Amino acid sequence: MASAALIDGKAFAAGLRARIAEGAAAFAHQAARQPGLAVVLVGDDPASQVYVGAKARACAEVGIASFEHRLPADTSEAALLSLIERLNQDEAVDGILVQMPLPGGLDEAAIIAAISPDKDVDGFHVLNAGRLSVGQPGFIPCTPLGCLMLLKDRLGDLAGMEAVVIGRSNIVGKPMAQLLLAANCTVTIAHSRTRDLAQVVRRADIVIAAVGRPEMVRADWIKPGATVIDVGINRLPPEEGKAKGRLVGDVAFAEVAEVAGAITPVPGGVGPMTIAVLLRNTLEAAHRHAGLPLPEGL
Ligand code: NDP
Repeated sequence: MASAALIDGKAFAAGLRARIAEGAAAFAHQAARQPGLAVVLVGDDPASQVYVGAKARACAEVGIASFEHRLPADTSEAALLSLIERLNQDEAVDGILVQMPLPGGLDEAAIIAAISPDKDVDGFHVLNAGRLSVGQPGFIPCTPLGCLMLLKDRLGDLAGMEAVVIGRSNIVGKPMAQLLLAANCTVTIAHSRTRDLAQVVRRADIVIAAVGRPEMVRADWIKPGATVIDVGINRLPPEEGKAKGRLVGDVAFAEVAEVAGAITPVPGGVGPMTIAVLLRNTLEAAHRHAGLPLPEGL
C-alpha cells in the first residue's frame, strides 16, 4: 500500500490551461489579436513531430494562434537563422520555439542565441538564464517552472527546506536549482560525478530527479515524508507480445511511494505541466509585447 499522496500534474495542468484560456480571451479582446506562438521543427525526428503536434493542439485549445514551420533535415544554418529573424520581427508572433534536438550540423547554441530574448518562451537564451540567476524577471524554462508550481501547490512556502536536484542540464537541472534557491530552499545539485548519491538524496525534503535513467532513485534514498518530483521520461524495452515498452520515470515509483510524503507519477506528473507552462509563457510574452499586465493566477 503506497502511503505517499499523488501529485496530479495532469489535473493541475488542466486548471492552469483553463486560466490561460481565460487570459488569452481577455488579451484577444484588449489587443484585438490572439497571442501567437511560432514553432519551428527541422527534420523528421518522430518524437519531435509528436511534441510539435501536441503543442499546436494545446495552443488551439486555449486560444493561442500557432504558426508551424516545418523545414527539411538538410536546412542550412543560414536559412534557419533567416527564418528566426523574420519571426523576431513578426508582430503576430509573441513566442518562438525551436524544437530540439536539431539535426547534426546545426549549432543549437547559435540558433538559441538568435531568438529575441523577448520571444524566448522556452527560457533557453543566455540572457534569460542570466536573469533567472540574478533574480531579474525573464522567461523561465517550462519544465522546472512547472515543477515549482506543483511544489508550491503541495507544500506552500518552501523556505528553509533541503532540496536535492539530481541532474544539471541547462533546460532542467540548473534552472530548477535556481528557482528553488530563489524560493529560499537550501539547494544541492547532484550529477553523474556526485559521490554517494543515495546519501546526498537522503537529506532532502524535496527531491527533483532529472537524469534520464529508468527507476534509478530507490526507496532507501528517500527521507520519510519527502516530496519527490520525477522529471524523467524513459521508455523500457517492450515486454513480450507488446509493441511498445512502458514509460517510467527516474524514480522507482512503487517502492518510493511507500516512503515519500508525496510523489508525481510518470506519466501524468511533470509531463503535462511542461506544455501548459509553455502556453503560460507565451501568454506572458504577448502581454509584455502589448504593454499589458499579466492577469493574476498565472
Ligand atoms: P540531460 O541528459 O541533459 O542531463 C542529465 C543529467 O543527469 C546530467 O546532468 C547528468 O550528469 C545526470 N546524470 C546522468 N547519470 C547520472 C547518474 N548515474 N547519477 C547522477 N546523475 C546522473 O537530460 P535532461 O535534463 O534534458 O532530462 C532529464 C530527464 O528528464 C530525461 O529523462 C528527459 O527525458 C526528461 N525530461 C522530461 C521533460 C518533461 O516534460 N517531463 C522535459 C525535459 C526532460 P552530468 O552532467 O555529470 O553528465
